[in-house]
Amino acid sequence: LLQEDALIDRFWRGLGARRDDVVLGIGDDAALLTPPSGQHLVAAVDTLNEGVHFPSAIPASAVGHRLLAVNLSDLAAMGAVPAWATMSLSLPAPDEDWLRGFAEGLGALARRHDVALVGGDTVRGPLSLSLQLLGFVPAGEALTRAGAVPGDGIYVTGEPGLAAAGLRRMQASRPPSDPLVEAFLWPQPRLAVGRALRGVASAAIDVSDGLVTDLGRLLDASACGGRLDAASLPLSRLAGAGVDPDDALDFALAGGDDYELLFTVPPALAPVLAERSADWEVGVSRIGEVEKAPGLRISGGPDDLPTGWRHFDGGAQ
Ligand SMILES: [Mg+2]
Repeated sequence: LLQEDALIDRFWRGLGARRDDVVLGIGDDAALLTPPSGQHLVAAVDTLNEGVHFPSAIPASAVGHRLLAVNLSDLAAMGAVPAWATMSLSLPAPDEDWLRGFAEGLGALARRHDVALVGGDTVRGPLSLSLQLLGFVPAGEALTRAGAVPGDGIYVTGEPGLAAAGLRRMQASRPPSDPLVEAFLWPQPRLAVGRALRGVASAAIDVSDGLVTDLGRLLDASACGGRLDAASLPLSRLAGAGVDPDDALDFALAGGDDYELLFTVPPALAPVLAERSADWEVGVSRIGEVEKAPGLRISGGPDDLPTGWRHFDGGAQ
């Protein structure tokens, strides 16, 4: 493996955005950063292991993109603005091509969201990648999973299920430019949406492990239950990509890796949501309603809703 100093010079120094609040960046014993006053510091961390969190076959640039995207998505779900990242990489063998691709994918997404890489550690071992992302949210304005109350509408951005369908398709044949495979490889965290939901959403979470699982977490945290209307799930891109309707519903309900935002909005603020979402780069769908009774009920959809979905008990998975 290349020496740590050489790795820093070649790949990590200057990766991502330049920020005035970085007093001292990568290359010393630690970074020096200036947090803005009046804001909470928001911190998230995620680890990706090869073969567990991403297939070995995906391009290095997509791995770099994913490592940052999963953390950006967590900050989006808090209504936060990202700023600084540190990462820890365990790599099995020297592979400059792989590192270059990884740095390109990570750096491009970091620049797009104004994130500076301010620290990194590289060790030899099984391929395992960990990134911590720091950002800000005005004090008192963060979105959390708690806060939904009965009567709130349940909404989701984009079309959950695309990534899972893309992963299945990639494992089957690896078509070069399938839109579903693209959705799996290049998830787009919804930071602008998260910020716009401050003061509108009563609760929010990002969809990382599947719509039903993550909605269960939000409802549990809010001490509520809910009803999900399967007939109102957005499935048009899955249908357009030739996915069988039963499979599409399964992907939408249980598929992970979408990194869309799932959130609740009080009825009185639905017009504000409609106004703000008009110029979003992604669509938003109302897919259900928060209810008092615990558990998640799934209504609507085809009569042959896959076994287990019709009377899903919610939460515990
Ligand atoms: Mg999350």
